[in-house]
Amino acid sequence: MSTLKERLRSGEPTFSFEFFPAKTDAGTRTLWEAIRRIEPLAPDFVSVTYGAGGGSRDRTVEMTRRIAAETTLRPVAHLTAVGHSRAELRHIVGQYADAGVRDVLALRGDPPGDPRGEWHPHPDGFRHAHELVSLVRESGEFTIGVAAFPERHPRSPDWASDIRHFVAKCRAGADYAITQMFFRVEDYLRLRDRVAAAGCDTPIIPEIMPATDVRQIARFAELSGAAFPEDLAHRLEAARDDPREGHRIGVEHATAMADRLLAEGAPGLHYITLNRSTATVEIHQNVQTATSRSTGHAHAGH
Ligand code: FAD
Repeated sequence: MSTLKERLRSGEPTFSFEFFPAKTDAGTRTLWEAIRRIEPLAPDFVSVTYGAGGGSRDRTVEMTRRIAAETTLRPVAHLTAVGHSRAELRHIVGQYADAGVRDVLALRGDPPGDPRGEWHPHPDGFRHAHELVSLVRESGEFTIGVAAFPERHPRSPDWASDIRHFVAKCRAGADYAITQMFFRVEDYLRLRDRVAAAGCDTPIIPEIMPATDVRQIARFAELSGAAFPEDLAHRLEAARDDPREGHRIGVEHATAMADRLLAEGAPGLHYITLNRSTATVEIHQNVQTATSRSTGHAHAGH
């Protein structure tokens, strides 16, 4: 199997799915059902998020290893600098290497408990993601991803510093970036253009989050700061008590976004599953149908 780095260089858009480590047995069963449903689609990778602290972190390592050992999927392990010394980070990266996992998404993370609270680095740890990128780079042959923010990182005082630090993170050794969730394609395009204008060509993969339930919206805004289009909010509000209609609206909006992003040259699509596969698999299948239809037209024209 080629590395993710090589796969990204091929120029064909990647597609991938994100999971989080489940806390309960029932959650683990649901998660593995989703993983097994996604496996036959042969995505380029699946990623596993890293908790803010405590036992959920061991679950990330365990789940990532299990995906590597028991499935045909390529796992990408998220890793944050929160609460870890350099030695601990090196140890975790070593555990991945031993398990044959060669893909890490290197993140700074947020303060545990209050994502908007003040950030205190570990006394022997890192202050920013670029330092973790360098550590992973020095630890062996890894394909390294980093985070990108279509609406700017909430802590960045202005665009100029946001882009400068993003580019520094890429130059430290990142092979690609995945964005924070967003709901307006223009935000992604503006970020991509700003990064390109700064002389950086690191591929930035947009994250696709199907918004199927109006009750999720407030939580999205709180967690990610992502602006939510008013018309979509109204349509979901009208479908508040009709989950099937909410699902239909969310899938339709995400499919339209995904189609447009690919048409605009996005290097891939990364789907947030919330450990359930139904909506993201539907979006992915819609996008594939649209892509093969347009490829068919292109061939017919030749
Ligand atoms: P950084 O790149 O360090 O940036 C953080 C801020 O510091 C920015 O404002 C940046 O401009 C600024 N900055 C960077 N370098 C410097 C410098 N040298 N001097 C001054 N300022 C600087 N969190 C988790 O806890 N677990 C996860 O699994 C997880 N997965 C994520 C996946 C994706 C795709 C994304 C987009 C985010 C994810 N996060 C996760 C959230 C992420 O950890 C937070 O958003 C965090 O606040 C920023 O991380 P970063 O890696 O972008 O940090």
